Order: sequence, then structure tokens, then C-alpha cells
Amino acid sequence: MARIMILGGGSGGLVVANKLARGLRGTSHEILLVDRSPYHYFMPSFPWVALGFKEPEQVRRPLKNLEKKGVRVLQGEVREIRIPEKRVRVNGEDLSYDLLVVSLGAEVKPDLMPGFEAAYHPWTIEGALRMREAIQRFEGGRIVIGVSGPYYRCPPAPYEIAGQLDFALRARRLRDKSEIVLAHPHPQPLSAMGPAISGVITEILAAKGVRFEGNFHARAIDPERRLLLGQDGREIPFDLLIMVPPHRPSVAGMCPGLLTPASFPLVDPKTFRCLADPDVFAIGDMVNPAINLPAAGVVAHFQAEFVANQILAELKGAYIGESFTPVAMCIMDFGDDAVLPMCDFTRILDLSGPPSCGVLGRSKAIRLTKMLFESIWFATYLS
Ligand SMILES: Cc1cc2nc3c(=O)[nH]c(=O)nc-3n(C[C@H](O)[C@H](O)[C@H](O)COP(=O)(O)OP(=O)(O)OC[C@H]3O[C@@H](n4cnc5c(N)ncnc54)[C@H](O)[C@@H]3O)c2cc1C
Repeated sequence: MARIMILGGGSGGLVVANKLARGLRGTSHEILLVDRSPYHYFMPSFPWVALGFKEPEQVRRPLKNLEKKGVRVLQGEVREIRIPEKRVRVNGEDLSYDLLVVSLGAEVKPDLMPGFEAAYHPWTIEGALRMREAIQRFEGGRIVIGVSGPYYRCPPAPYEIAGQLDFALRARRLRDKSEIVLAHPHPQPLSAMGPAISGVITEILAAKGVRFEGNFHARAIDPERRLLLGQDGREIPFDLLIMVPPHRPSVAGMCPGLLTPASFPLVDPKTFRCLADPDVFAIGDMVNPAINLPAAGVVAHFQAEFVANQILAELKGAYIGESFTPVAMCIMDFGDDAVLPMCDFTRILDLSGPPSCGVLGRSKAIRLTKMLFESIWFATYLS
């Protein structure tokens, strides 16, 4: 009998738990999932919470629902992973594992940017509720959307938030009295995803009257003068600032052998097994930026399926050498319009070139699919 421990009940951990529970039903193997939160949150809906379209209870489900499927759920803080001893320290107790999947995501660290107290963001549920109050108080003026650094959950989200704000302000008849500026390190909107996607996003932002300030690397916020300060000396005045907070991989004191100097776990990009020990897998936002994949739920999801398949095959003694297909698609919701981009990151993983990306569609109906996806996600993984 093996104990498979999963750290993190977010997008990656949840999918691994479900897949293993199905594949190991009727066996004596144990699946244990640990998370500090009693809930799984569907983060793509956080901007909708911030804009008042959804309540927090609608975008979360109890992780305990996994117990019906045969997964033991432990609520606790992961303090340390001791790879040589195959043990994890949770709530002051040492727990042993045979196979470990780590999907602890990223942590937001607002304190790393000077003056961040003057900004709002929907990158956590608490942040989304604070941002909602600020937007309700807003009566017109200049909204600036900024990005604190290149590593953050969901690279397309600031663009979506710009479009959704335009939509929400028009509904409140405040759009004529408002200006929306998106200040981003990209030279052109989403240019890292190639000209096809960048062209469509540029067109949507222009149609919505969102001014794009490219190559903007934010350095700090000046709360008194209400300025977003760039590394190149540019200063952007704001009445309301929405700022992607600094992120760091959530490593919870992992053993140093597992970490790169930038605090990302070192993994084999073909298997997501840790270089320090092949019985440990690391997936999702805590590892992807280090292997040039985006910090996105869809990537964590596909990695989770792939890793669970490796574990199932290993436990059943029939590993057939499946390879990971690094493809991702993500619906971008602009309030009254939506785009479905898709990227193949094979060349990124091979270090042979940029991703190959295209736009699969653009319509209001695609936006409905994004709204439905939340219900499908909960029904599939946490009912
Ligand atoms: C506003 C917003 C919009 C987004 N939109 C999209 C989208 O449209 N499409 C898309 O693909 N992705 C989107 N994402 C990104 C997506 O949600 C993440 O990339 C994805 O959830 C990452 O999965 P993960 O398993 O790596 O980490 P997470 O889902 O963050 O899960 C990590 C889990 O680990 C737990 N944890 C962390 N540290 C500890 C610890 N020390 N002890 C115990 N538990 C711990 C956390 O509580 C959490 O449950 C969005 C994110 C945000 C914030």
C-alpha cells in the first residue's frame, strides 16, 4: 500500500486528487490532500466578485467534498518538506509519504512593492472584496491598471479586467466621466503570445477606449501624489489604482535542494518530477514560470492529469512513457465580448523558440462558456 500525499487543493492538486481517486478506487492505496484553506476557490471568477457580479460563496466549494470520493482531506499549514526523509511537516506534525505531488501555487506579496497600500486587486478573495468597495465608491476619474512584475497568476487577467471595467462603468453610466489606462511590461498587448492574439486584444482595447501604456515596468506607488512610478522615470497619475500584486512561489520552507536561486522548485520539464527526488512531483504556478510556462490554471490542470497518469501507471506497474502536451487555451472575458486564444508551448519547453499561438474564436457566446465553466468545474471535481 502506498500513501500519495498531495499538497495544495487548488487547480493542480484538485485534479490530481480526482484522477487518482478514480484510478485507485477499490485498491488499498491512500490519497491524502493537505491545504490550509477549507475551500477550493475558482480564481477566474475573482474579477466578477470584485465587480459585484458574484458573491464569494458562489466561487468556492469545501475541499471536504473530496472525502466522498475516497480522498482524505487535512486542513493544515505545510511548514516544511523534508525530501530525504520523505516527510512533510503539517500543523506541527510529521507526515510520511511514498509519492508526493506539490501544487502549492503562488503567494501574493503586496509588501514587496512600496506604497502598495494605495492599490486594489482581485488576486485573492479578500482583495476582490476590498476592490469591490473601492469601485462602488468610484464616481469617475482615471483608473489605472498596473502590473508589479512579470510573475503573476494568469497573464491575460489585467487585459480582461480592463475590458470588464469598461463594461461595468458603462452600465453605471460613469464611462463618459472615466478613463482607463493599462500600464504593462509587454511592449504591445499580450505580445508574448504572438501577433495573432496581440492584434485582436489591441483592437478590443482600442474599441473600448482603454489606453495601453507599454513597456511599463512599475517600481513603486506614491500614495500621497497618487502616482504609479515606472523604472524608466514615467509617472502615471491615478484616481483608482488596480495593481497586480507581486507574487512569489509558495514553497513553504521546502528543502533547499529543491529550490532554484529564484525560489522555484527544480523539476524535469518533461516529467515534473523534482530533480532532488523522482518520487516528488511539482506542478502549477509554483513551478511553471521557472520553465517558461504561464502561471495559469489550464496549464496546472493538464500537468495534473499527466502527473496522475504517471503515478497510476507506476502503481499499476505499466508506465507506457506518455509525453506531456504543453497546450493551453483560456477564455478572455471583456465584459460584453470574449476571445478564445490557444497556445502550444512545445517550442518553449524545448527551448527552441516562441510559443505557437492563435485565436480560436471571438464572440459573446464564448463569454457564456466561461461563465458555465465554473459550474462544470465544481460539478466535475467537487460535487
Ligand atoms: C484573477 C485571476 C483570474 C484567473 N483567470 C484564469 C483563467 O481564466 N484561466 C486560467 O487558466 N487560469 C486563471 N487564473 C490562474 C489560476 O487560477 C492559477 O494559475 C491556478 O489556480 C494555479 O493552480 P495551482 O494548483 O498551481 O495553485 P493554486 O490554485 O493557487 O492552489 C494552491 C493551493 O495551495 C494552498 N497552499 C498554499 N500554500 C500552502 C501552505 N503552506 N500550506 C497549506 N496549503 C497551502 C492554497 O490554499 C491553495 O489552495 C486566474 C487567477 C486569478 C487570480
